Amino acid sequence: MGAPEPRLGAGGVESPSLGAGQGARILLVDDDPVYLTLTSHALTQAGFVVTTAADGQSALGAASRGDFDAMLLDALLPDLDGFEVCRRLRGHPAHEHLPVLMITGRDDDPSIARAYDVGATDFLVKTTQFTLLIGRVQYMLRGAQTRAELERSKERLARAQSLARMGSCSWRAVDGRLSAPFVISPEALTVLGFDPSARVTARRALRRVMAADRRGLIRLLNQAARQQAPLSADIGLSLPDGRRRVVHVDAEPEGMDALGALQYTGVIQDFTDRRQAEDRIRHLADFDPLTGLPNRRQILWRAERALDAARAQQHRMALLLVDLDRFKLINDTLGHGMGDDLLVEAARRLRDCVRHVDQLHEGALQDAHARSHRQYEAVGRLGGDEFVALLPEIGSLDDVQRIAERMLEALRKPIMLDGQECFVTASIGVCLYPEEGDSVADLLRNADVAMYAVKAQGRNAALPFTPGLSTQARERLNLETALHKALERGELFLRYQPSLDSTTSRIVGAEALMRWRRDEHDIMPADFIPLAEESGLIVPMTEWALKQVAAQVKRWEQRLAFAGTVAVNMPARMLRRLDLVDFIEGITYEAGISPRRLKLEITETSLMDQVDQVLETLQQLRSLGVKISIDDFGTGYSSLAYLTRHPISELKIDRSFVQRLGVDSRSNAVVAAVIAMSRALDLRVVAEGVETRRQMEILQFLGCTQMQGYHFAHPLDPPDFEGFHAAVHRRPMGKWNSDA
Ligand code: C2E
Ligand code: CA
Ligand code: CA
Repeated sequence: MGAPEPRLGAGGVESPSLGAGQGARILLVDDDPVYLTLTSHALTQAGFVVTTAADGQSALGAASRGDFDAMLLDALLPDLDGFEVCRRLRGHPAHEHLPVLMITGRDDDPSIARAYDVGATDFLVKTTQFTLLIGRVQYMLRGAQTRAELERSKERLARAQSLARMGSCSWRAVDGRLSAPFVISPEALTVLGFDPSARVTARRALRRVMAADRRGLIRLLNQAARQQAPLSADIGLSLPDGRRRVVHVDAEPEGMDALGALQYTGVIQDFTDRRQAEDRIRHLADFDPLTGLPNRRQILWRAERALDAARAQQHRMALLLVDLDRFKLINDTLGHGMGDDLLVEAARRLRDCVRHVDQLHEGALQDAHARSHRQYEAVGRLGGDEFVALLPEIGSLDDVQRIAERMLEALRKPIMLDGQECFVTASIGVCLYPEEGDSVADLLRNADVAMYAVKAQGRNAALPFTPGLSTQARERLNLETALHKALERGELFLRYQPSLDSTTSRIVGAEALMRWRRDEHDIMPADFIPLAEESGLIVPMTEWALKQVAAQVKRWEQRLAFAGTVAVNMPARMLRRLDLVDFIEGITYEAGISPRRLKLEITETSLMDQVDQVLETLQQLRSLGVKISIDDFGTGYSSLAYLTRHPISELKIDRSFVQRLGVDSRSNAVVAAVIAMSRALDLRVVAEGVETRRQMEILQFLGCTQMQGYHFAHPLDPPDFEGFHAAVHRRPMGKWNSDA
């Protein structure tokens, strides 16, 4: 290793005046001064750089001081003979490989043998034919150079192998079975976690393989040997200190030896880092970064594999499509950050409801045993608030129903978001293979149909797919597409229901109620508003309504000297819009009306859901003069303290209480309480859905004078509203006191 490099070829000290010797440094040792001079002269002529020594001691001294490429050593020296010099030289690691040409007497066979014994590189019978001598020296130097290069490349290989954490090994296979000798390089030993100098048998090496992989590996080795095939496998190791490692083995059969054994040579490489990197990359590609669940790609891939297994083994499998209810609302009202937190928690709970297997171990050693399809079981995130649970093998629909119930139950507990309790439910559509679909796409589509059916039936439940459901779903889809077009085509219009002060019989305002004229029929809000809210269309629809109302108010101001307010129903998500105040300011300015002419009706429940998020918006609206009315009041169990924190101008008693006035005493009590409460809070109170004189009178008796309902007027087209307005103001009193 520490051998001096011969100064030959590249890297050597070259000078144009030098000949064959090329500046190689020679230590010439001889006690014959004449021979020494002649040889030295000849070598110098040939381009060598010569140092001379006349006895053994000074030769060793010169060798230890100088850096020589070769030594010419006379066998017979006065003090130590050449053999002894050579022997001592070789004992020194720096000179282990120094080329030494021993110069011996003529035909002295024993000394030739001795020369080799003591480690001489070559010998030459003493000669004055210097070309021969020079030829020998050159030959010897070239040999040394080759050896040094080999040494260097071996070193480099070893270094490269240890950098690549790779080593080599070889073994034999007799009759298709692993057989000794098993040879393994020090680098490979390191890879396997052994000391590089340890003696390791195949059996001992195999014990490093993880128990789960060991039998598979032996099977693979034997199988490759039988087929005389190359072997390539990733193997999990478990080291004595408990660490895990993944190594990759690549081996090729090299041919038969004389005994009929197949010789394999191969490389063993530590793949742990690479595998971890691959795992990380795979994780990024296959898992949802937010919830850590398998993503759409991964869960669909698993579903395909599970379906293959179900087909082959003739068992059932199930897909459950889980969609969180009203998640959009939560996201819109509480903000995306909290929406994300909620998704993470919901994902965690759903995941716990199945035997979720995160990591799939694929690869050569995976035992394809009968139950391995079970490992596909998982909950994945399809996107947004949609999850899918894959159950690769189930007995019956009841089993699935049980899991669906477990999921609904898991979600029932409140989720804490920023110190606030939130409730989330889910709608689950179930689809079974083979009954309701025999491709993943079909299963997913039908699970989706079932899920929508759950939504339509009031959410928070699970339903299996049945063929009848798909027509309903299609209708819904048609409706949604049509609604998109309705807005563009001007199929939407507003009716205005007057509200009156029943003591003066004056119109105090109106509520704009939306209708959809579709194929000659008027579709009522109940049949399209929920859909519009779910699809988000409600936002442009409400903007449209606000603009319509502003223009209508302007017209009535001019024609009827109308001084009331017109109310527009505000969906929850509108309030979250940061530009709502600007928008309203803009449209009222454009229409040329005061924002005081506008009222926004917010349902009690949607206001409760948004809590403090919309407070600032409401305050800004109020300072603009816009009135805020709480719609359907009494259905949402608002607390009084809570209401006083909001800039509200009006409560609208829900129709359901008004209609049971005089029928059930609890309604009387609720209405009385609401009226008292609004008095205390200095809020206006309006009763909606007043259909009879009796209801009107009870309300008047309880102290509520402002009313809206069929008893006075239905929602009216603008011309009818104008007619009604004229009639009321011509003959204000009396009319409402009969039940006609
Ligand atoms: P709402 O805000 O509670 O509106 C009052 C509903 O009660 C209206 O139904 C109205 O026609 C009806 N009504 C009025 N007087 C009586 C009565 O004496 N008896 C009975 N039984 N009903 C009466 P409509 O127009 O079908 O609207 C239903 C719901 O649809 C509304 O309830 C509101 O929540 C929603 N909606 C209507 N128009 C819009 C709109 O432009 N935007 C939004 N976001 N929602 C709207
Ligand atoms: Ca309303
Ligand atoms: Ca209402």
